[in-house]
Amino acid sequence: MDKVRIEEVQSTTKKQRIATHTHIKGLGLEASGRALPLAAGFVGQAEAREASGLVVDMIRQKKMAGRALLLAGPPGTGKTALALGIAQELGSKVPFCPMVGSEVYSSEVKKTEVLMENFRRAIGLRIKENKEVTELSPEEAESVTGGYGKSISHVAVGDVIYIEANSGAVKRVGRSDAFATEFDLEAEEYVPLPKGEDVTLHDLDAANARPQGGQDILSLMGQMMKPRKTEITDKLRQEINKVVNRYIDEGVAELVPGVLFIDEVHMLDMECFSYLNRALESSLSPIVIFATNRGFCNVRGTDMNCPHGIPVDLLDRLVIIRTQTYDVADMIKILALRANVEDLVIDDESLAYLGDIGLQASLRHAVQLLSPSSIMAKMNGRDNICKADIEEVKALYMDAKSSARLLQAQQEKYIS
Ligand code: ATP
Repeated sequence: MDKVRIEEVQSTTKKQRIATHTHIKGLGLEASGRALPLAAGFVGQAEAREASGLVVDMIRQKKMAGRALLLAGPPGTGKTALALGIAQELGSKVPFCPMVGSEVYSSEVKKTEVLMENFRRAIGLRIKENKEVTELSPEEAESVTGGYGKSISHVAVGDVIYIEANSGAVKRVGRSDAFATEFDLEAEEYVPLPKGEDVTLHDLDAANARPQGGQDILSLMGQMMKPRKTEITDKLRQEINKVVNRYIDEGVAELVPGVLFIDEVHMLDMECFSYLNRALESSLSPIVIFATNRGFCNVRGTDMNCPHGIPVDLLDRLVIIRTQTYDVADMIKILALRANVEDLVIDDESLAYLGDIGLQASLRHAVQLLSPSSIMAKMNGRDNICKADIEEVKALYMDAKSSARLLQAQQEKYIS
């Protein structure tokens, strides 16, 4: 027996940016809130982890509304890892959307548009499966849809859309009038609700957006060249919000505010900050976590000198947590964790050597040397990484600090 099925909307979470943090599974705190020396993939940074734990409690008690968190500390002190840990403490299916401030400067899209998209990537919608459903026999279902296994992009006008529950029961949620010539949700609204899978508001925007351009041959060609390019308009977002709100009112779905992590917040300008000020007020706001490694600097595009390059009125709304640099013992523990998740065999001498590199350059650089060192080991006919492999790799790649030193020393050889 075939079942009427709506294909899952694949989440568009930016996976690659959190690839180096896969070992982080939470904040690693005791029930009392104290940080364990090594837990949930977290090492050291105890005060920042405990402070983050309190923020998690505040979020749970809804005391962070209208406010945001700022993680301030030198590069490579685990700010991203802390933000991810907070998201995981809030629940395993809470969306985590990382971005860097400079992402807003795209030549094609408005700055506030980039921010809005990321806000919506950080708000999840959970479909409740145990909601009472209207049983339909497979025959009935077949007679109204006329087919099975249609992906969302192939749903034709007039097709009936269902939510399928675990029990196999299905509930009719509407007809796909949305694919008519205009995006008109007046009569019977339609938002594809994937079965049992949490989606973000951005997933719904993207699934309902239509390819850009008209029907003439040039724009069709354009679509073929850039097949995934879609236009998400304000109108579309408003319509999606309307439908989502209805599902929430009906108890079919619930909102899951996630975490939007904005690294290098000093790269944002006044337009972005005023947008963020407003967005934080909205009832549909995720938890926003900013991070910076800057002290006093000018707010981008102005001569206003502010702490962390953040205007004081926004700074006023922030809870600030400081991160500290690691000592070599902590760096070695973190490197050992990373080697473990990457399935690399590395001896203590090599770990200590990498720890020293971390201290002189940065933790990030030391972590980044792990993969090329394992390739070097294989080229040298071994499965385990030895100090000699790391030495070879270290000679090949420069870290940011030594690169800067070299540039300074050889300034006359470069065009300035
Ligand atoms: P920052 O945002 O401060 O620059 P980050 O969190 O983005 O830092 P890095 O500092 O570059 O990441 O960290 C390098 C690697 O070390 C990452 O894989 C990160 O997950 C890991 N890491 C950093 N701090 C810790 C920690 N306290 N415990 C475990 N792993 C950590």
